[in-house]
Amino acid sequence: MHFLGIDIGSSATKVVAVDDNGNIVAQSAALLGAGTRGVDDALSQLYKNSGLKQSDCKNIIATGYGRMNFEKASEQLSEIICHAKGVKKMLPSVRTIIDIGGQDSKAIQISDKGTIGQFAMNDKCAAGTGRFLDVMCRVVGIPIEEMGEVGKSAAKVLDISNTCAVFAESEVISKLAEGSAIPDLIAGIHTSVARRIAGLVMRIGVVPETALTGGVAKNDGIKEALSKELGVELLVPPNPQFTGALGAALFALERHPRI
Ligand code: ADP
Repeated sequence: MHFLGIDIGSSATKVVAVDDNGNIVAQSAALLGAGTRGVDDALSQLYKNSGLKQSDCKNIIATGYGRMNFEKASEQLSEIICHAKGVKKMLPSVRTIIDIGGQDSKAIQISDKGTIGQFAMNDKCAAGTGRFLDVMCRVVGIPIEEMGEVGKSAAKVLDISNTCAVFAESEVISKLAEGSAIPDLIAGIHTSVARRIAGLVMRIGVVPETALTGGVAKNDGIKEALSKELGVELLVPPNPQFTGALGAALFALERHPRI
Protein backbone atom coordinates (compact mmCIF):
# COMPACT_ATOMS: atom_id res chain seq x y z
CA MET A 1 0.00 0.00 0.00
CA HIS A 2 1.12 3.58 -0.56
CA PHE A 3 0.06 7.17 0.14
CA LEU A 4 0.26 10.06 -2.32
CA GLY A 5 1.04 13.74 -2.00
CA ILE A 6 0.37 15.94 -5.03
CA ASP A 7 1.75 19.47 -5.26
CA ILE A 8 -0.03 21.28 -8.09
CA GLY A 9 2.13 24.36 -8.55
CA SER A 10 1.88 27.29 -10.94
CA SER A 11 4.50 25.84 -13.29
CA ALA A 12 5.00 22.18 -12.35
CA THR A 13 3.04 19.30 -10.79
CA LYS A 14 4.93 17.07 -8.40
CA VAL A 15 3.78 13.70 -7.03
CA VAL A 16 5.42 11.71 -4.21
CA ALA A 17 4.39 8.25 -2.98
CA VAL A 18 5.41 7.03 0.49
CA ASP A 19 5.02 3.58 2.06
CA ASP A 20 3.42 2.96 5.44
CA ASN A 21 6.70 3.88 7.16
CA GLY A 22 6.82 7.27 5.46
CA ASN A 23 9.68 6.28 3.14
CA ILE A 24 9.62 7.67 -0.40
CA VAL A 25 8.87 4.84 -2.84
CA ALA A 26 8.32 6.86 -6.03
CA GLN A 27 8.14 10.41 -7.32
CA SER A 28 7.37 12.09 -10.59
CA ALA A 29 6.96 15.59 -12.00
CA ALA A 30 5.24 17.10 -15.02
CA LEU A 31 6.33 20.52 -16.27
CA LEU A 32 2.73 21.69 -16.34
CA GLY A 33 1.00 23.56 -13.56
CA ALA A 34 -2.49 24.25 -12.22
CA GLY A 35 -5.41 23.96 -14.65
CA THR A 36 -3.57 21.74 -17.16
CA ARG A 37 -3.19 17.97 -17.64
CA GLY A 38 -0.14 18.16 -15.32
CA VAL A 39 -1.75 15.99 -12.62
CA ASP A 40 -2.74 13.24 -15.11
CA ASP A 41 0.74 13.29 -16.67
CA ALA A 42 2.58 13.18 -13.33
CA LEU A 43 0.37 10.35 -12.02
CA SER A 44 0.56 8.23 -15.16
CA GLN A 45 4.37 8.63 -15.22
CA LEU A 46 4.58 7.68 -11.55
CA TYR A 47 2.60 4.46 -12.05
CA LYS A 48 4.35 3.61 -15.30
CA ASN A 49 7.88 4.00 -13.90
CA SER A 50 7.49 2.69 -10.34
CA GLY A 51 5.57 -0.56 -10.63
CA LEU A 52 3.17 0.69 -7.92
CA LYS A 53 -0.51 -0.10 -8.50
CA GLN A 54 -3.03 2.71 -8.40
CA SER A 55 -5.46 0.39 -6.57
CA ASP A 56 -2.93 0.16 -3.70
CA CYS A 57 -3.13 3.92 -3.03
CA LYS A 58 -4.83 4.39 0.35
CA ASN A 59 -5.04 8.16 0.57
CA ILE A 60 -4.19 11.29 -1.46
CA ILE A 61 -3.63 14.82 -0.18
CA ALA A 62 -3.21 17.78 -2.52
CA THR A 63 -1.29 20.99 -1.94
CA GLY A 64 -0.06 23.89 -4.07
CA TYR A 65 -1.66 26.70 -6.02
CA GLY A 66 -4.04 24.35 -7.94
CA ARG A 67 -4.94 22.05 -5.02
CA MET A 68 -8.63 23.02 -4.91
CA ASN A 69 -9.21 21.69 -8.44
CA PHE A 70 -8.12 18.13 -7.69
CA GLU A 71 -11.22 16.34 -6.48
CA LYS A 72 -9.69 12.92 -5.87
CA ALA A 73 -7.78 14.18 -2.84
CA SER A 74 -9.25 13.47 0.60
CA GLU A 75 -7.96 16.87 1.77
CA GLN A 76 -6.32 20.01 0.45
CA LEU A 77 -3.60 21.46 2.65
CA SER A 78 -1.64 24.70 2.36
CA GLU A 79 1.84 24.74 0.85
CA ILE A 80 3.20 26.26 4.07
CA ILE A 81 2.35 23.26 6.24
CA CYS A 82 3.27 20.73 3.55
CA HIS A 83 6.69 22.32 2.94
CA ALA A 84 7.34 22.42 6.68
CA LYS A 85 6.41 18.73 6.95
CA GLY A 86 8.59 17.72 3.99
CA VAL A 87 11.62 19.69 5.20
CA LYS A 88 11.25 18.33 8.74
CA LYS A 89 11.51 14.82 7.29
CA MET A 90 14.54 15.54 5.08
CA LEU A 91 16.44 18.04 7.27
CA PRO A 92 15.15 17.83 10.88
CA SER A 93 17.44 20.56 12.23
CA VAL A 94 16.09 23.28 9.90
CA ARG A 95 14.25 26.21 11.53
CA THR A 96 13.89 28.54 8.53
CA ILE A 97 12.64 27.43 5.11
CA ILE A 98 12.97 29.57 2.01
CA ASP A 99 10.83 28.14 -0.79
CA ILE A 100 11.14 29.65 -4.26
CA GLY A 101 8.58 28.38 -6.76
CA GLY A 102 7.41 29.41 -10.19
CA GLN A 103 5.08 32.13 -9.07
CA ASP A 104 5.72 32.83 -5.42
CA SER A 105 8.43 32.82 -2.76
CA LYS A 106 7.92 32.06 0.91
CA ALA A 107 9.94 32.25 4.10
CA ILE A 108 8.69 30.02 6.92
CA GLN A 109 9.95 29.53 10.46
CA ILE A 110 9.36 26.16 12.08
CA SER A 111 9.91 24.98 15.65
CA ASP A 112 11.97 21.93 16.60
CA LYS A 113 8.65 20.02 16.68
CA GLY A 114 7.83 21.17 13.14
CA THR A 115 5.03 23.61 14.06
CA ILE A 116 4.75 26.76 11.96
CA GLY A 117 5.90 30.08 13.40
CA GLN A 118 6.10 33.32 11.44
CA PHE A 119 5.96 33.27 7.67
CA ALA A 120 6.11 35.76 4.80
CA MET A 121 5.08 35.36 1.19
CA ASN A 122 5.54 37.16 -2.11
CA ASP A 123 2.90 36.25 -4.66
CA LYS A 124 2.08 39.62 -6.14
CA CYS A 125 5.06 40.14 -8.40
CA ALA A 126 7.39 38.00 -10.57
CA ALA A 127 10.54 39.56 -9.07
CA GLY A 128 12.15 37.10 -6.67
CA THR A 129 10.38 34.07 -8.15
CA GLY A 130 11.10 31.35 -10.71
CA ARG A 131 9.07 33.32 -13.26
CA PHE A 132 11.68 36.10 -13.29
CA LEU A 133 14.39 33.50 -13.98
CA ASP A 134 12.25 31.74 -16.63
CA VAL A 135 11.86 35.05 -18.49
CA MET A 136 15.56 35.95 -18.15
CA CYS A 137 16.86 32.57 -19.28
CA ARG A 138 14.93 32.95 -22.53
CA VAL A 139 16.39 36.43 -23.04
CA VAL A 140 19.99 35.24 -22.58
CA GLY A 141 19.30 31.99 -24.51
CA ILE A 142 20.45 29.61 -21.76
CA PRO A 143 18.20 26.73 -20.57
CA ILE A 144 16.96 27.20 -16.98
CA GLU A 145 18.82 24.10 -15.77
CA GLU A 146 22.15 25.55 -17.05
CA MET A 147 21.81 29.07 -15.58
CA GLY A 148 23.64 28.17 -12.35
CA GLU A 149 26.57 26.57 -14.14
CA VAL A 150 26.96 29.36 -16.75
CA GLY A 151 26.79 32.03 -14.03
CA LYS A 152 29.77 30.41 -12.26
CA SER A 153 32.14 31.59 -15.00
CA ALA A 154 31.19 35.27 -14.52
CA ALA A 155 34.16 37.67 -14.37
CA LYS A 156 31.94 40.26 -12.65
CA VAL A 157 28.40 40.65 -11.38
CA LEU A 158 26.52 43.14 -13.57
CA ASP A 159 24.01 45.32 -11.77
CA ILE A 160 20.40 44.84 -12.87
CA SER A 161 18.81 47.96 -11.46
CA ASN A 162 15.15 47.24 -12.30
CA THR A 163 13.32 44.83 -10.00
CA CYS A 164 10.17 44.68 -12.15
CA ALA A 165 10.48 41.65 -14.47
CA VAL A 166 9.21 43.61 -17.48
CA PHE A 167 11.69 46.49 -17.04
CA ALA A 168 14.52 44.12 -16.05
CA GLU A 169 13.94 42.16 -19.28
CA SER A 170 14.42 45.35 -21.34
CA GLU A 171 17.49 46.21 -19.27
CA VAL A 172 19.05 42.78 -19.92
CA ILE A 173 18.24 43.05 -23.65
CA SER A 174 20.02 46.47 -23.77
CA LYS A 175 23.04 45.13 -21.91
CA LEU A 176 23.26 42.19 -24.32
CA ALA A 177 23.10 44.61 -27.26
CA GLU A 178 25.95 46.63 -25.68
CA GLY A 179 28.07 43.46 -25.64
CA SER A 180 27.88 42.42 -21.97
CA ALA A 181 29.06 38.87 -21.34
CA ILE A 182 26.24 36.37 -20.74
CA PRO A 183 27.79 34.83 -17.56
CA ASP A 184 28.16 38.35 -16.05
CA LEU A 185 24.53 39.08 -16.86
CA ILE A 186 23.41 35.79 -15.34
CA ALA A 187 25.36 36.55 -12.17
CA GLY A 188 23.56 39.93 -12.07
CA ILE A 189 20.18 38.23 -12.59
CA HIS A 190 20.89 35.80 -9.72
CA THR A 191 21.93 38.66 -7.44
CA SER A 192 18.78 40.61 -8.30
CA VAL A 193 16.56 37.61 -7.38
CA ALA A 194 18.61 36.94 -4.23
CA ARG A 195 18.28 40.57 -3.03
CA ARG A 196 14.54 40.48 -3.48
CA ILE A 197 14.23 37.19 -1.59
CA ALA A 198 16.59 38.34 1.17
CA GLY A 199 14.23 41.32 1.74
CA LEU A 200 11.32 38.89 2.15
CA VAL A 201 13.28 36.58 4.48
CA MET A 202 14.42 39.47 6.70
CA ARG A 203 10.75 40.30 7.41
CA ILE A 204 10.68 37.18 9.63
CA GLY A 205 14.43 36.88 10.37
CA VAL A 206 16.72 33.92 9.91
CA VAL A 207 16.87 31.24 12.60
CA PRO A 208 19.53 28.66 11.72
CA GLU A 209 19.63 26.17 10.19
CA THR A 210 18.14 27.40 6.94
CA ALA A 211 16.95 25.36 3.96
CA LEU A 212 16.27 26.40 0.38
CA THR A 213 13.49 24.46 -1.41
CA GLY A 214 11.34 24.69 -4.56
CA GLY A 215 12.38 24.28 -8.18
CA VAL A 216 14.65 27.34 -8.00
CA ALA A 217 16.77 25.62 -5.30
CA LYS A 218 18.16 23.49 -8.16
CA ASN A 219 19.98 26.61 -9.37
CA ASP A 220 23.35 26.80 -7.55
CA GLY A 221 23.78 30.42 -8.64
CA ILE A 222 20.69 31.44 -6.65
CA LYS A 223 21.81 29.38 -3.66
CA GLU A 224 25.24 31.09 -3.64
CA ALA A 225 23.87 34.60 -4.21
CA LEU A 226 21.18 34.24 -1.53
CA SER A 227 23.61 32.72 0.95
CA LYS A 228 25.85 35.77 0.40
CA GLU A 229 22.98 38.25 0.80
CA LEU A 230 21.77 36.63 4.03
CA GLY A 231 25.21 35.77 5.41
CA VAL A 232 24.12 32.20 6.23
CA GLU A 233 24.76 28.75 4.82
CA LEU A 234 21.78 27.32 2.94
CA LEU A 235 21.01 23.61 3.00
CA VAL A 236 19.27 22.13 -0.02
CA PRO A 237 17.42 18.84 0.55
CA PRO A 238 17.68 16.11 -2.10
CA ASN A 239 15.04 16.80 -4.80
CA PRO A 240 14.12 20.25 -3.42
CA GLN A 241 11.22 20.67 -5.88
CA PHE A 242 9.40 17.71 -4.28
CA THR A 243 9.40 18.92 -0.65
CA GLY A 244 5.76 20.12 -0.65
CA ALA A 245 4.53 16.91 -2.32
CA LEU A 246 6.53 14.87 0.21
CA GLY A 247 4.90 16.76 3.09
CA ALA A 248 1.45 16.14 1.56
CA ALA A 249 2.25 12.41 1.18
CA LEU A 250 3.32 12.21 4.86
CA PHE A 251 0.04 13.88 5.89
CA ALA A 252 -1.83 11.40 3.65
CA LEU A 253 -0.16 8.59 5.61
CA GLU A 254 -0.78 10.14 9.06
CA ARG A 255 -4.37 11.14 8.40
CA HIS A 256 -5.41 7.85 6.82
CA PRO A 257 -8.04 6.23 9.07
CA ARG A 258 -6.69 2.98 10.50
CA ILE A 259 -8.95 -0.01 11.09
P1 ADP B 1 5.57 25.79 -8.52
O1 ADP B 1 5.30 24.87 -7.34
O2 ADP B 1 5.12 27.19 -8.32
O3 ADP B 1 5.13 25.20 -9.83
P2 ADP B 1 8.34 24.86 -8.44
O4 ADP B 1 8.78 24.75 -7.01
O5 ADP B 1 7.96 23.60 -9.12
O6 ADP B 1 7.16 25.93 -8.57
O7 ADP B 1 9.50 25.61 -9.21
C1 ADP B 1 9.34 26.01 -10.54
C2 ADP B 1 10.52 26.88 -10.92
O8 ADP B 1 11.73 26.14 -10.71
C3 ADP B 1 10.54 27.25 -12.38
O9 ADP B 1 9.89 28.50 -12.55
C4 ADP B 1 12.03 27.32 -12.73
O10 ADP B 1 12.49 28.65 -12.66
C5 ADP B 1 12.73 26.54 -11.63
N1 ADP B 1 13.37 25.31 -12.11
C6 ADP B 1 12.76 24.17 -12.48
N2 ADP B 1 13.66 23.23 -12.84
C7 ADP B 1 14.90 23.81 -12.69
C8 ADP B 1 16.24 23.36 -12.90
N3 ADP B 1 16.52 22.13 -13.34
N4 ADP B 1 17.24 24.22 -12.63
C9 ADP B 1 16.98 25.46 -12.19
N5 ADP B 1 15.75 25.94 -11.98
C10 ADP B 1 14.71 25.13 -12.22
